[in-house]
Amino acid sequence: MIKENVRGLLQELPAHVELVAAAKARTAEEILEAIEAGVKIIGENYVQEAQRAFEVIGSRAKWHFIGHLQKNKVKKAVKLFDMIETVDSKGLAVEIDKICAQENKVMQVLVEINSGREKQKFGVMPEEAEGLIKELSRLRNISIMGLMAMGPYAGEPELTRPYFVETKKTFDNIKALNLPGVEMKYLSMGMTNSYRIAIEEGANVVRIGSKIFGEREEK
Ligand SMILES: *Cc1c(COP(=O)(O)O)cnc(C)c1O
Repeated sequence: MIKENVRGLLQELPAHVELVAAAKARTAEEILEAIEAGVKIIGENYVQEAQRAFEVIGSRAKWHFIGHLQKNKVKKAVKLFDMIETVDSKGLAVEIDKICAQENKVMQVLVEINSGREKQKFGVMPEEAEGLIKELSRLRNISIMGLMAMGPYAGEPELTRPYFVETKKTFDNIKALNLPGVEMKYLSMGMTNSYRIAIEEGANVVRIGSKIFGEREEK
């Protein structure tokens, strides 16, 4: 099933769109199947879970962190991940930068936008993204590569469209500033129920879990 799902998705996605297989709560064996079918990037929400999978899988894929990163997990995250998609504060960015300097590494990051403006969610408000990115662009051991956003609805996919549209506008506005040290290359938005709409509205990275691995059992 996983292999067929991946192959179907890879055929469907336009060539400019990168697929991140969102692997929370999946076993290393399931993730390996996805890789064998052509997945190149694994998305992980939890550092410890990613460590366990990494021990089995290693660099057969790129690893993107897509969860909420706590400062006390940054050191492990920096060692493991190729990109952190969820930077949403100066404090977190400074910590990543500091650890990267020690590790002699430059981390690619995306700034997470709270596109639905939901109180309980992480990410910065769309209008705060530019200011944050200007501040972060001075950090030498992180490289800002774009934006990441989640739509607010789990239900009707079409309802997520306005949030994707707004995030794309924010992305384009920041890109047009040509800030030194900032390469607005990736716009990561869209999940299983919304990726088609996200791509129509400009996403070039989609993070897909259940459509690859099947429905998750809710904890
Ligand atoms: C779980 C998750 C996804 C994928 O969700 P699905 O609905 O299973 O496709 C994408 N992004 C993030 C941040 C996630 O936590």
